Amino acid sequence: MEINLISDTVTKPTAGMLDAMMSAEVGDDVFKADPSVNALEEKVAKLFHKEAALFFPSGTMTNQAAIKLHTNPGDQLICDKYAHVYNYEGGGVSFNSGVSCKLVDGHRGMMTAEQIEAAINPPDFYHSPLTTLVCIENTANKGGGACWDFEELKRIKSVCDKHNLAYHLDGARLWNALVAKNETAGQYGDLFDTISICLSKGLGCPVGSVLVGSESDIKKALRIRKVFGGGMRQAGFLAAAATYALDYQVERLAEDHRKAKEIGLVLESLTFIKKVEPIETNIIIFEIDENKMGSEAFVETLKEKNIHIIGMGQGKLRIVTHLDYTSEMHENLLGILRKL
Ligand SMILES: *Cc1c(COP(=O)(O)O)cnc(C)c1O
Repeated sequence: MEINLISDTVTKPTAGMLDAMMSAEVGDDVFKADPSVNALEEKVAKLFHKEAALFFPSGTMTNQAAIKLHTNPGDQLICDKYAHVYNYEGGGVSFNSGVSCKLVDGHRGMMTAEQIEAAINPPDFYHSPLTTLVCIENTANKGGGACWDFEELKRIKSVCDKHNLAYHLDGARLWNALVAKNETAGQYGDLFDTISICLSKGLGCPVGSVLVGSESDIKKALRIRKVFGGGMRQAGFLAAAATYALDYQVERLAEDHRKAKEIGLVLESLTFIKKVEPIETNIIIFEIDENKMGSEAFVETLKEKNIHIIGMGQGKLRIVTHLDYTSEMHENLLGILRKL
């Protein structure tokens, strides 16, 4: 039995999702004439209490479009040192927008309002880049699927308002945070100017992300998406998968979270594991005691047993639970780990 835990992006469409895709009504979305895409965009905008939404082929493109629409070349954005927009989007912040990142030394990918306020360049001091945007990531991926304290996000919003900064949320795994913390999409939409969400992570779609925002921001995003080459034609087949996922595959994220916590407990009991970071959602980040076993040797040992996980650098390893990680695989994995 092959058990792939490298990411929650490895999932394949469920039978129900495939049915929804096969029966989708489609049109040319570049002409805004795909009824399934239009319906998805309306649904997601409403869920987030926003005026509009736009379907994208990837989470990277939604984040990059958001950064582009909130900034001018030469500007600076503020994000945590672990941020996906800074570390894992190929340098797109500078390539696409001519913008630099001021990195904040946060905790598990999360910053405080004070840290953010201290990172803002004085707008009259024309020697330094103009700060125009704050980017938050929830859940924080490199932070181990960590969930923000919503009160802190509100405090950061006040800082943004005071200093006239746009406020963007990379919510690739926001669904995990909503389920874990019993929060609503609407409360996030009320707080942020723009939010990008992924459908191809925990929600199990093959492709797709959505950006939500005001009518005018989404109008700008439509032009940017065209420039980025992200306009798709009969994208309704993908939008139908997304609508299905939103209707049927959100609540089940709690199961991924439960399994992740159970894996964490077993890892903690192993003598050669130095540290398991707190587990709040579906991501487990842990360190091997290199005196007892190399982290690469550990990955190889698991690979021989048909279990796949990946390293995150600096001796840290990552396991991600997901829709295609069945209860049978889970029992199997726990048994194998306990015997190591
Ligand atoms: C996966 C991910 C994205 C988007 O990545 P794509 O591979 O382009 O879909 C953005 N932010 C975070 C935090 C992610 O984990």
